[in-house]
Amino acid sequence: MTSRIACQRDCPDGCVLLLEGAGPEARVRGDPSHPVTRGFTCMRALRFPRYYASGRRVLYPHVREGDAFRRVSWEEALDLVASRLREVLDERGPESVLFFNYAGNSGLISFNYPLRLCHALGATRLEYTICDEAGELAIELHYGMRYGAFPQDMEGAKLLVIWGANLASSSVHAYRIASDLRARGAHIWIVDPRRTKTTLLGKHVRPRPGTDAVLAAGISWYIINELGVDRDFIDRYTKGFEEYAELISRFRPDLVEEVTGVDRGTLRELAEDYVTLRPSVTYIGVGMQKTRWGAEAVRVIALIPALVGVHRGFYFCNSCRDLEIAYLQGRHLGEARRVNMLDVPRLLSEGRFGFFYIYGSNPAVTLPRADLFREGLSRDDVFAVVHEVVWTETAQLSDVVLPATGMFEHEEVVGSWWHQYLAHSQPAWQPMGESRPNWWVIQQLSKRLGLGHEALYEDPMEAMDRVLRRSEMTGHSGLEELRRRGWVELRYPPKDEYQTPSGRIEFFSSRAEEIGLSPLPKIGWDQQRGFILITSSVPERTATQDLLPEDLAELDRIHISEEDARQMGIRDGDVILISGEGEALAQVEIDHSLPRGVLWARRNARFMRGFVNDVLTWEKQEIGGGNAMNSSMVKIVPWKGGAVEGG
Ligand code: SF4
Repeated sequence: MTSRIACQRDCPDGCVLLLEGAGPEARVRGDPSHPVTRGFTCMRALRFPRYYASGRRVLYPHVREGDAFRRVSWEEALDLVASRLREVLDERGPESVLFFNYAGNSGLISFNYPLRLCHALGATRLEYTICDEAGELAIELHYGMRYGAFPQDMEGAKLLVIWGANLASSSVHAYRIASDLRARGAHIWIVDPRRTKTTLLGKHVRPRPGTDAVLAAGISWYIINELGVDRDFIDRYTKGFEEYAELISRFRPDLVEEVTGVDRGTLRELAEDYVTLRPSVTYIGVGMQKTRWGAEAVRVIALIPALVGVHRGFYFCNSCRDLEIAYLQGRHLGEARRVNMLDVPRLLSEGRFGFFYIYGSNPAVTLPRADLFREGLSRDDVFAVVHEVVWTETAQLSDVVLPATGMFEHEEVVGSWWHQYLAHSQPAWQPMGESRPNWWVIQQLSKRLGLGHEALYEDPMEAMDRVLRRSEMTGHSGLEELRRRGWVELRYPPKDEYQTPSGRIEFFSSRAEEIGLSPLPKIGWDQQRGFILITSSVPERTATQDLLPEDLAELDRIHISEEDARQMGIRDGDVILISGEGEALAQVEIDHSLPRGVLWARRNARFMRGFVNDVLTWEKQEIGGGNAMNSSMVKIVPWKGGAVEGG
């Protein structure tokens, strides 16, 4: 039997998969009839059946006893969780209860429904700042809604600029489009400090990390001062151009060349392509935005199309939808406090929280200063519950571990943050062991806490149906239609509609002014001290979730350029101490793709001692409190100590 699964990984491609069979030998392929999936998937998808049937699965509820876990019944686990939650609520107040989640399962129900309990309790939840939120806000400041180019716009582009993304790893369908475009003779530019498979697709520009805002300003300088803007477009669709041109006039080619390391000939050539090749699309990568000046860089990059007369000629995140997520999250049940997730390790170490409910996330590895988080979670005055698919590092440190269903085992509705299709996911397998979906646990806990609001017990599919029916973008079609058709195309507003206060693209953002941000982009750059450490995904995994048991046996290495290694007397396989916010020990890999002064590791890399995130900065950007992890400055020294114990 073949089931249709909407992939629930945190990935822009939003694939619809066809799953045949059950267990580790089941077969996954991309649905050939889906407009974007088109019959193929990433290599991670091929591993999904082995992953969901692997020995890493949490199959039964477990309760900590000393250093070990004891298997218990759901009844016993839920009673214990409810009684400890009640204790903390009574003794320390709802603000000390933190619901910690992220996109371990990005299905709309799995992600959002558990927050109903958080809102009903008036507990604390997260501001999601670990990924692209700062950049999304940056685009909203100038464009209103943040949607930009869709896959079909990319396919029709004469110029594609891939800015700070290795599509071969992070978006295989966008990579395929870029490859096809190249074959058809479109111009492709890739802006990335590293050499990757994606940079082979076209002209490669290698700025110093953290200087993207200046680079974009330099390109804009050529367009405004030498090549010519699209005056008709600017008059008709934009506001604040004169102020913006004045700002950009300060970024003369000599300054830009000095700051970014990119020569002015290249700057001008790329600017010429922007002016002469239309339509163009600039694919803005999330990793580039995770820098101190990242959201500011997104502002300047996303404004380039407005100079040359292209409506929304950028892609950053297309997940803005008119679905009532607030209803799914039960925000009508009460007010929840919010904390920036980057602050959680610090707040935890200060004793701010007494109870954690963690689902769809592995913060013991994925937060910057993950070491502090791990330390804090082990405090005696913290009770941690993890509802998860596999035994993550966070689960290993918690007090109660509850088994969650994987994406083949529950019904879901899933959106994409790149394309415009909303998809339905069928339950294909029986839940493994005693695993239960996220919404079920919340209903059980609500009952034990004696909470009466009926929204806490609403059938999640009925809630989803209501949300779909109230959406203009779905054309008010409900769940039944989605089940029948498999996916619906969401109706986004036209590309030339701008939801800013003026109804135009605002170079000078009145919204920014209103919320206390600079109305014009603030263009700055990282001043490098020591090495800059950047992380990014690799094809076989984008998240800690993608690991199979055999992957855990293999430790990651820290990559260094050949020149830096030679100068420091470091050889391949040597062990180095990395000191940033925290410390970690890792083996070195000499990497010819890196420029000098830059270290690279896989996202969430596991080292000989510690994780890469232990040393990453928890500094926040001004816009949206977003993270600046790819601006982490670290020092390295060869390790002269004794034997290294595992982290
Ligand atoms: S991880 Fe991404 S590319 Fe892979 S199957 Fe899921 S949505 Fe598609």
